[in-house]
Amino acid sequence: MSYASFIQIPNATLFLRCRKSLLVRHGFCSNQRSASSLVSSSSSSRAQPPLRYAVLGAGFAGLSVAWHLLQVLLSLSLSLSLFLSTFSQNSQCQASKESHLCIDIYDEIGIGGGASGVSGGLLHPYSPKAKLLWRGTECWKECLKLLSIAEGTVGSMEADRVARDLDQDFDELIVWRRGILRPATTLKNVDILNENAQNCLGSCRIESLNKDTARSLIPNLCVPFDSAIYMPEAVNIHPQRYLQALFLACENLVKEMSALGFGGKEIYLHKKSVNKLLELAGEYNAVIICLGAKADLLPELLGRLPLRTCRGVVAHLQLPKDIGEEYGEHSPSILSDAWLAVRGPRSLVMGSTWEWRSRNYSPIVSAEEASNALQELLPKASSVYPDIQNWTFTRAMAGLRAMPPLTPLGSLPLLGCMDDVVGGNHQCKYWFFGGLGSRGLLYHGWLGKLMAQAVISCNEDVLPSELTLWRKMK
Ligand SMILES: Cc1cc2nc3c(=O)[nH]c(=O)nc-3n(C[C@H](O)[C@H](O)[C@H](O)COP(=O)(O)OP(=O)(O)OC[C@H]3O[C@@H](n4cnc5c(N)ncnc54)[C@H](O)[C@@H]3O)c2cc1C
Repeated sequence: MSYASFIQIPNATLFLRCRKSLLVRHGFCSNQRSASSLVSSSSSSRAQPPLRYAVLGAGFAGLSVAWHLLQVLLSLSLSLSLFLSTFSQNSQCQASKESHLCIDIYDEIGIGGGASGVSGGLLHPYSPKAKLLWRGTECWKECLKLLSIAEGTVGSMEADRVARDLDQDFDELIVWRRGILRPATTLKNVDILNENAQNCLGSCRIESLNKDTARSLIPNLCVPFDSAIYMPEAVNIHPQRYLQALFLACENLVKEMSALGFGGKEIYLHKKSVNKLLELAGEYNAVIICLGAKADLLPELLGRLPLRTCRGVVAHLQLPKDIGEEYGEHSPSILSDAWLAVRGPRSLVMGSTWEWRSRNYSPIVSAEEASNALQELLPKASSVYPDIQNWTFTRAMAGLRAMPPLTPLGSLPLLGCMDDVVGGNHQCKYWFFGGLGSRGLLYHGWLGKLMAQAVISCNEDVLPSELTLWRKMK
């Protein structure tokens, strides 16, 4: 697939700032002021230092940042080469196209090795009370964009496989567009859900349903107060497949940039643990820390992040072959005190437990932990979907959420430049992107984009102040 359709030019102010920054970084100009006067300058092209970025962590946050760094740089390179070809010498235009860029992604486990790979993959922009979350509109829109990029990448590989009659099959679903349904579980809940549903997004509608309509979507569903809300456009994803596809999209974008004549672009995934930020000092123009719940294990960040950890266990269940009635092809996933993320007619994930302050980072779940999780989750799930009793347990996995503090606007992720915290005499910028809590999927698209813009323009003001306020609090 062509990525050109996803490439957008940043807004005018950012574009000007980024363009000047790039001119400086690429060696076209020695400072921002001379970048502004490049048009009148007639200096010949100089050797350009490579741009190098390190992204730490290959979960939702890290891969979104990597994708958006490439996207922003490509759009800037396109604009820059247009700018230079219009106003300057051809040699400079060529130089801008050939400037070297390298993105190194470090993850000690690999793609989706943390909470992202374990998550239920449920996606909608609402709170449990059906209230639109902070900047839910932008988050929803950007996340859907990333999902289509991942789907498009796999789709074009599948088309290529069929055309070339290759064996490898990429045809597994990344996104299930079956909607999500939440039955009201208390009388108080009925009014709140229905009231908030009135203010839903046009692109992710909330419909109020009575018991019969809800049951027409999910046969045998329990709707104790004759009321449920239904989000027909909400989706659930397979997080591992999605992240693999997003990384592939990054690799393809790099190839496409080369095909367009923007040579010298590279992206690598290093399966390697980063033990200290200062190890990377001097090597990179910027280091973006997307290490989820493990971020504060870095010595430089120890005790500096207002995050609490919370371990969650999910159980994968299957419907045995001897049970004839499958989960409906169009029946939605279910949210309740336990959620059911449906992945196929005979496959679903049930979640999740909440073990606060856990420091168990392992995705592996012992038999005892799995049994405890089932004892906790099954009664909750069967109180709304009694047929869950027919499903059998296949495996359990766990992840550690990085929970940010609760603010009047909700639990907002933490972003910002960390140079003052990391210290050291170096020319590297350290950025933090974490605290995605229990909504990493929703937040990662838009915030990954803003983070990439902030990193490239070296300007923290690109980030909404609500997300950087935590750094000013003691
Ligand atoms: C059980 C459970 C269910 C969830 N369900 C949902 C859901 O349905 N919808 C939703 O939106 N959110 C859900 N979440 C929340 C979501 O998973 C997180 O918000 C999100 O995954 C955080 O993404 P991240 O990239 O910040 O962190 P992570 O996904 O944890 O990524 C961090 C990465 O950094 C790597 N790493 C850590 N330390 C180092 C190091 N020193 N060196 C190198 N690499 C390192 C790890 O291997 C990991 O891959 C769920 C979470 C859990 C635990």
